[in-house]
Amino acid sequence: MAERRKYKKRYCKYCEAKIDFIDYKDVASLKYSLSERYKIMPRRLTGNCKRHQDMVTISIKRARSAALVPYTVSRKEVVVNPFENMK
Ligand SMILES: [Zn+2]
Repeated sequence: MAERRKYKKRYCKYCEAKIDFIDYKDVASLKYSLSERYKIMPRRLTGNCKRHQDMVTISIKRARSAALVPYTVSRKEVVVNPFENMK
């Protein structure tokens, strides 16, 4: 499970940075809790604590409605055509 190792360190990044308020305009910090397809990452993967995960979720939803973060990413933008070399 190579993919799981990416999130193995289970501590809350926001607690460590002592962040009490997550700004919805701070997309860089929100991105930590977003997958590459801009889905909100579950707490079991990011290791965020409940308090901060709730804050992040609210901020992401706000950022989405303010069009700072996309709701969905189309498949073309994420996956490079796998059939490109199969001619
Ligand atoms: Zn926390």
